[in-house]
Amino acid sequence: MRRKTTAVKIGKVVLSSEQPVLIQSMLNTPTMDTEACVEQAIRIIRAGGQLVRITAPGVREAENLKHIHEELWARGYDTPLSADIHFTPEAALVAARYVEKVRINPGNFVDKRAIFKKLDYTAEEYAAELAALRKKFTEFLDVCRKHGTAVRIGTNHGSLSDRIMSRYGDTPAGMVEATMEYLRVCKSVGFEDVVISLKSSDCRIMVDAVRLLVREMRREGMAYPLHLGVTEAGEGEDGRIRSAVGIGTLLNEGIGDTIRVSLTEAPEAEIPVAAALLEVCGEPKFERSGDGLKGNCLHPVLVADLSGREVVDESVTQALGFTPAAEDDPALGARLQANTRTPEWIYTESLSPELTKLPDTVGIIVPWELLDMAHVYNRKAVPLCQVEEYMQQPELPEGMPVYLEIRDTETLNAALAEKLRQDSRVILVLALGTDYHAYREVFREMDTWGLNHQTLVRLELPGTDHPRLQLQAAAQLGGLFLDRLPGGLWISTPDIPDADFALDLGRNILQSAGVRRYKAEFISCPGCGRTLFDLQGAVAKVKAAFGHLDHLKIAVMGCVVNGPGEMGDADYGYVGAGNGKVNLYKGRQIMRFAVPEEEAIDALRELIGV
Ligand code: SF4
Repeated sequence: MRRKTTAVKIGKVVLSSEQPVLIQSMLNTPTMDTEACVEQAIRIIRAGGQLVRITAPGVREAENLKHIHEELWARGYDTPLSADIHFTPEAALVAARYVEKVRINPGNFVDKRAIFKKLDYTAEEYAAELAALRKKFTEFLDVCRKHGTAVRIGTNHGSLSDRIMSRYGDTPAGMVEATMEYLRVCKSVGFEDVVISLKSSDCRIMVDAVRLLVREMRREGMAYPLHLGVTEAGEGEDGRIRSAVGIGTLLNEGIGDTIRVSLTEAPEAEIPVAAALLEVCGEPKFERSGDGLKGNCLHPVLVADLSGREVVDESVTQALGFTPAAEDDPALGARLQANTRTPEWIYTESLSPELTKLPDTVGIIVPWELLDMAHVYNRKAVPLCQVEEYMQQPELPEGMPVYLEIRDTETLNAALAEKLRQDSRVILVLALGTDYHAYREVFREMDTWGLNHQTLVRLELPGTDHPRLQLQAAAQLGGLFLDRLPGGLWISTPDIPDADFALDLGRNILQSAGVRRYKAEFISCPGCGRTLFDLQGAVAKVKAAFGHLDHLKIAVMGCVVNGPGEMGDADYGYVGAGNGKVNLYKGRQIMRFAVPEEEAIDALRELIGV
């Protein structure tokens, strides 16, 4: 069941919990280029987009929305348009006359984005800023009411005002309060056609902020619909998995009425990804009381699944990323070495001398009946038991961990809980399929039974449709890791021979949830009419040059207006400054102005010191 929301009319569509979740995208063509905008909007609509957003950086562009709108209607496309406004409230007043919806950003509609110059506010100063906000925003709402235009209050983590930062800091609570200031005005003047979004490039912040906003709205008697998105998600499978972790988690919880999967790709490429994401998310389940489940696992491990492999030999360990160690072990002979990307555990039903080479940091899990034989090859082998085997009191060496598989939500009963309370060796392996709620139910049961055992999530994904499997796993499991609940991830893809596919998917989910770092992280905005250079080309160049720096997070952003604010906690920023120039940032500080694009990669290399 979806979270109940009010109905918001946006041109010919209605956004509410009673309607299917609506898919949208945003143009990246210059808003003054009417023909290019119309052509791109049509491609989005034909791909299945139900709402098209266009940036309006100034009044001139806002005026041109009239022509874009008219031309689309003339060609038979009545899909609603939404204008995206930052910094220029005057543009919002103009756009509201021509398009069906206007998005404003609370961080820069009346206030300016935080510049950290003013951090102490007296109660009077705070109240005066709120009064100014109310006045300006009410004027805008009056225009929207007159023209039947809907409004999105679109708060971004990277653009909060000094006023909000002074009281709440750069937090989900700050994002929620920045939004609530505007929603309280809407409520007080009886303006109902409001949609909200709270976005961040950090999935955890985005999910936490939205959950918190839902609670706050309920407390204040509001039920406005929600637009979901992860900003600066990037491109390719990284962008898709990151979006699935953030958006999918909330969709599974019954939250969200429209979604945009922001990718640094052609806007129409976002639509099938959004549609597939809606499809793989299970039956939503909104809990009015909110779900207080929170774990503390900050470093989950990965399990490589070798079931189905008849032979585990050198080619298999190499495929898992292990490399020969520089020195042999005097007793055991040739050894392998691990690195930051190799799995911490390997599950195998096939025993072989190759297992003797594994480094001591890597453990082997085998079926219970193979345990004795497995110890011939690897003294760190531990058993995977089914509940019936475990209840028959298996005799195991003192202190040896036992992996105990839980295959359905009914298994964790009083008798098992009682035995587990006496047995801290057990690590629970939750193999509950692609049902987000089943996992949460078992974690809740564990709380109820007073069990605090380590847990692993084990997911078997049949099929060979790589993009779909990625979205499915990320959407269904990502939220568990955002909430720091499981201690490990074990994915198997029995129909895909490449052992690294499942492992790489696991790495990507854990990195998107912010609990592990396996590779350099690149975030990039999707681009819009403000984009001042070849964004996709720049992302490719930056990835090629710095992809090996796995400790860094680098942002590639399309414009200097919003880019620096939206880079979040990136270590370095590469931001289009127009006229073939790029500005380079270290953290939030600008280090190089207007570097010619052809010199920018070298300049960034110098800045990073590599
Ligand atoms: S940061 Fe990117 S998406 Fe955002 S306004 Fe600038 S160019 Fe557009």
